Formats: sequence, C-alpha cells, structure tokens
Amino acid sequence: MSLCLICTHPAEQSRTACTRCEHRMRGWLGEIPRQLVLLTASLELGTRPAQGFGGAGRAHSPLPVRGDVLNLLGPAAPGPVRDTAGDQSDRQPVHAVLHAWADQLAEDLGHMLPPINPFAPYADYLARHLGHVVRSSWVALMHAELDDLVRRVRAVTSTEPRRRALDAPCPACQAFALGRVDWETYIDCETCGLLLTPDEYDDHRATVMPPLARIGVLMAAHRLTQEAS
Ligand SMILES: [Zn+2]
Ligand SMILES: [Zn+2]
Repeated sequence: MSLCLICTHPAEQSRTACTRCEHRMRGWLGEIPRQLVLLTASLELGTRPAQGFGGAGRAHSPLPVRGDVLNLLGPAAPGPVRDTAGDQSDRQPVHAVLHAWADQLAEDLGHMLPPINPFAPYADYLARHLGHVVRSSWVALMHAELDDLVRRVRAVTSTEPRRRALDAPCPACQAFALGRVDWETYIDCETCGLLLTPDEYDDHRATVMPPLARIGVLMAAHRLTQEAS
C-alpha cells in the first residue's frame, strides 16, 4: 500500500492517487468540455446590448464581452509552459491548464502530443491516459489545478453536476450513501468511497432490495394495524 498524494488515503502499490481521486478527476475531465459550451454561451449573452425598456441612455457603451468568461476561454500560451512551481496557475484559461498538463503527460509517455480536439482540448487525451497520471509524481498538482479550474468555470456558468441519491445501501459499509454524479462513470459511496459500475449496482440492488422492500411493507402494515386498534 502507498498513500494517495491528494487525499492521503491508502492507494494501491505503485499508485500516487487512490481510485476515488482518480474518479473525481475523470469526472472533471468529462465535465470541462460540456462547461466550455456553456461558457461560450455566457460570453455571447454578454454581447447582448443592455437596453431594456428605455435603456438607451448609457453614457458608456457596455463591454462587448464578459471579461471573466474571456479569461477562461482565452487561448493557451504558445509552446510548453509547464509551470511546475504551480504559482502561475491562478487565473489561467481552460485551454492553458489542459494544454500544459497534456504536454507534461506526452513528455512522460515519450510521444508527440496529439493534435488538439477543439471540443475537448486535451481533456480526452488526459482522460485516456489517466492511468499514467495516477502513477505520476505530479498528480496532486494537476488535481489542484483542475479543481480550481472547475470551480471557476462553475461560478460563471452557474451549472454543476447534480448528485442523485440511489436507494440501495452500500454493499461495503451498509450506509444509505450511494449516488451518482452527472457525467461521472461510477456510482460512489459518500461514506466509504466504494465505486461501483452501473451494472454492479443493478446486480447488487436486485439482490438486496426485494427483502428490504418486504420489511418496509411489513413495517407499514404493522403501523396501520396499530393505528386501527
Ligand atoms: Zn485520494
Ligand atoms: Zn460505503
């Protein structure tokens, strides 16, 4: 066992991040391309002239685009600019953050960076090689930058994935804490961190829910007879 560099929970040997932290990063990498669509829409909203009823009397013309959105949508700096000290990450655009980590990854893997996919700039590449990322020395820094990036983007788009609670108890810790976050691949337990595929959950649910439902019916029937007597 080794320790996860992100959350300090135990991780499998040779890994530098645990499966739960990997799961979260994979979720963010899936979310970012979707958020980019919303960001672009937010930018366009800002271009709409601010003229409500009789609103023509402005002394200054409004900014044509929203500065906060533009900062996030800005282009990546040309060439590799990996900043391993992490002190430039603060206000970097989405593309710059993803491009820099993709550069680092390609260097580690010893191949050329693939051509950019404009709809998911390097998010798909990073997700595809996440198995390497969670064994790298720089996983915690990438996690921190993605975390910051996703927060900044969500603050602008006012959109974040919802967590849907599932009704079967966790097969590992028995807590009623299983749920699935939009755009994430796995179902997770908020109490113990267990991850299940949707198929595994369905199998588990099919086994545990009928007896639980019978108990529920018996309890309801018991309450009704108590009330009737
Ligand atoms: Zn972790
Ligand atoms: Zn659990």
